[in-house]
Amino acid sequence: MNTTAEEQGDLPTLDELRGRVADARARPSYGHDALIACDQLVRIFATDDVEVQALQGLDLTVTAGDLVALVGASGSGKSTLLQILAGLDVPTAGRASVAGCDLLGMGAKERLRYRREVVGFVWQQTARNLMPFLNARQNVLLPMQLRDRSVRASRRDRADRAAELLDLLQVGHCAERRPAQMSGGEQQRVAIAVALANSPSVVLADEPTGELDSDTSHLIFEAFRTVNRELGATVVIVTHDLMVAGEVRRTVAIRDGRAAAEVLRELTTDEHGQESVVSREYATLDRAGRLQLPREFLDALGMEQRVEVTLEPDHLGVWPEHPEPAAD
Ligand code: ADP
Ligand code: MG
Repeated sequence: MNTTAEEQGDLPTLDELRGRVADARARPSYGHDALIACDQLVRIFATDDVEVQALQGLDLTVTAGDLVALVGASGSGKSTLLQILAGLDVPTAGRASVAGCDLLGMGAKERLRYRREVVGFVWQQTARNLMPFLNARQNVLLPMQLRDRSVRASRRDRADRAAELLDLLQVGHCAERRPAQMSGGEQQRVAIAVALANSPSVVLADEPTGELDSDTSHLIFEAFRTVNRELGATVVIVTHDLMVAGEVRRTVAIRDGRAAAEVLRELTTDEHGQESVVSREYATLDRAGRLQLPREFLDALGMEQRVEVTLEPDHLGVWPEHPEPAAD
């Protein structure tokens, strides 16, 4: 620990204090370079006599261009988080911003624009994503037609974009079909096209494969990878399917309303030039330095309440509490 002026009994000079304030200001704020930044997000649902803390101080950042899956048991707070990111719900406390929009400070008009232009949303229920009386092409055109006149594209450009999106998602053949005339997988791919219609910064999907069989689910993840790669869209997909970790670059596990662990998949090349995908599991470190250690590890070493942490050259050591020194 550094010895400071205070410890030596002297008060810091005014210049020293000014220097410290300037240093703190110059330091970038948490998540400043992230497209999505959630900082200590809390959402409490209060009903007559019970209070449910769906989010309990969740920290999460997502970089532009990322493709992230959020996994976790039912009731862990995944949908609550997505509803907040979609601008459909407001957190009880904490901070959240998406593409520079402050999700707590938006007024009604800004919120409407946010939902129409900054985010695209895909629901689990295929029927909820599409208008039943419109065909696929008309469904994709709808969000573009609803845009403010000042930013609305020409009729010709809108038609071109709808056709391009349906082709990209390999549902061009469904253009003139209504939802009832399409399979579940086709409907979800059209739904992704609808979500992308106004070129949002982020596409959010809540259990988009929840009603589909595993082969079709695989196609839907393929579709999300395509829009991520071809259009550069940032994609956040909620799922309880643990198989998804093999489909995306980054998987964040949500436990009890907090981000608890992550799996990152990276392409590596060995000394023979052989490429392979390596998955690495990480524990999440929050802004305050808090870490959730795997329960099994703690149980294995009988760690509870207190651990000793030591600084090593390239890692930290975490040790069980020393037994009380035996009295003579
Ligand atoms: P997940 O999507 O991970 O299954 P949710 O975000 O839907 O979890 O729910 C998290 C917790 O919040 C659950 O305990 C759920 O019952 C509760 N919850 C969600 N929405 C509401 C609501 N509108 N009113 C009261 N409790 C809610
Ligand atoms: Mg849910």
